[in-house]
Amino acid sequence: MHKTRNIHESSVLPKRAQKRILRCMRQSRLFTKARREAPADEVSKNAQLLVRAGYVHKEMAGVYSYLPLGLRVLSKIENIIREAMDAIGGQEVRMATLHPSEKWKTTGGWDAVDVLFKLQSRTKKEYALGQSEEEIVTPIAQEYSTSYKDLPVAIYQIGQKYRDELRAKSGIMRGREFGMKDMYSFHETQEDFERFYEIVKQAYLEAYATCGLVAKVTEASGGAFSEKLSYEFMVLTDAGEDDIVYCEHCTHCANIEVAKDKEGEACPKCGEGSLKAARASEVGNVFDLGQKYPKAFGFMYKDAEGNEQYPIVGCYGFGTSRLMGVIVEKLADEKGLVWPGSVAPFTYHLVSLSAGRQGSGHNNDDIAKAADALYDALAKKGVEVLYDDRDLRAGEKFAESDLLGIPFRIVVGKDAVANDAFEVVERATGMMTKKSRAEILGI
Ligand code: ATP
Ligand code: MG
Repeated sequence: MHKTRNIHESSVLPKRAQKRILRCMRQSRLFTKARREAPADEVSKNAQLLVRAGYVHKEMAGVYSYLPLGLRVLSKIENIIREAMDAIGGQEVRMATLHPSEKWKTTGGWDAVDVLFKLQSRTKKEYALGQSEEEIVTPIAQEYSTSYKDLPVAIYQIGQKYRDELRAKSGIMRGREFGMKDMYSFHETQEDFERFYEIVKQAYLEAYATCGLVAKVTEASGGAFSEKLSYEFMVLTDAGEDDIVYCEHCTHCANIEVAKDKEGEACPKCGEGSLKAARASEVGNVFDLGQKYPKAFGFMYKDAEGNEQYPIVGCYGFGTSRLMGVIVEKLADEKGLVWPGSVAPFTYHLVSLSAGRQGSGHNNDDIAKAADALYDALAKKGVEVLYDDRDLRAGEKFAESDLLGIPFRIVVGKDAVANDAFEVVERATGMMTKKSRAEILGI
C-alpha cells in the first residue's frame, strides 16, 4: 500500500519563513535516485554525472529537463546573476519566446541567423523560437522610450533559448534548448553606452567569481551581430569549444579565431609574460550592437534639442545552464559532483547510519532519533540540508553522497549517540573533523 505523503512535510519551517527555495528535505521524499552506471548515450562528463546523480533528465541530444536537485543549482546561478543585474539598474522582464516571423524579417535575421528554429502553424503562419531577443526587446523599449529623459534603460530576462545547433555533444554546455540571462541596454550616446558596458563587465566577473569560477575577458569580433568589438568571458576547461591564448602575467586574453596572437610570443599588452594556448568555454558575451536594431524598427527618441535620434544598444548574454556544466567539468572528481557552496543544491548532506527503523535494535533507533533531532534543529536555523533518512547500507549512502556533491556531509553514527561526536566531511577535500551537536548548530 502506498504511504500517504504530505508534500509540505519536507520542510519544518513555518510557511512565512519559506523562501522560493525550500531549505530542507528528507531524501526519502526526493523522487529522483542516483544511478550506479553512467548513461551510455552521454559523452561529456557534465551530462554523465548530472544524469547519474538525478540532476537532469535527457529528452534528446541537446535538450534536458532539470529535476529538483538540478533546478536548485540552476536557480542559484540565476539568482546570482539576477542580483548582479538588479544591482546595476537592470529591470527584469519575461519576454515571449514564440516570435512572429515578421519581426525577424524586419531585421533580416529570418534569413541570416542559421541557428534560428522556424515553425509553421496549421494556418501556414510562420514563427521563430527565440534564440536571442533583440527583435522583441527593441519594439518594447521603443514603446516606452520616446524622450532622452527615458534613457538609459537596461532590460533583462532569465529564461530559455532555442538554437538549431549542429552538434550537441557537450551535455548541458551546448543545448538546442538552454538557459540564458540576456540584457539589452539603450543609450543616448556612445560614451554612456561604454560607461555601462564597463559596469556590466565588472558585474559579470564578480558573478562568475561568486559561482566559484575565474573568467577571462577576451576581445573578439561581434560575429553575426555586429562589426564592432565584443567581449567574451572564458573559463579555462578542456571541455570547452573555444581556443584562446592568454598571458600568464596580466589579464590579456584573446580568442584564437580572431586574434593574431600565438602561443609562446611575448604578451602584446604587458610585454612581460608569454602567451599560453588553452581550451576554454564561453560563459558570457557582451556586444556593442550600435544602432542596427533601432534603425530596423524605426526606433527614435527626442534628444534635449528636440531632434530625433536612434539610441545606441548594448547586449549582454550570460549562459546560465552552460555555466552549471562548466562548474561540473572544473570541479567534479572521480567520485562525482563537487559544488561550491554558492550554487550547491544544499549546504549539508545529513547522513543517518541508522540501519532501518523496522525491527532494528535499540542503538539504531537512537541513531535515527539523533539524526531526526539534528535535522529539525538545522532546519529551524534555516540551514539548507538534505537528510538521507533512507534505509540503505552506509557504503551505498556514502557513495551516493559523494556523487551528489553537497559541500559538507554530517554523519550520524554510533559515535554521535555515545560521545556526541558527528563526523563532518568536506566534499571538495575529503577533510574529516569530529564536531559536537552544539558545534554543528553554531556553524
Ligand atoms: P557560442 O560561441 O558558444 O556558440 P554564442 O557566441 O553564440 O555562443 P551568445 O549568443 O553570445 O553565444 O549567447 C550568450 C551566452 O549563452 C554564451 O556566452 C554562452 O554562455 C551561452 N550559450 C550560447 N549558446 C549556447 C548553447 N547552445 N547552449 C548553452 N549555452 C549557450
Ligand atoms: Mg561565441
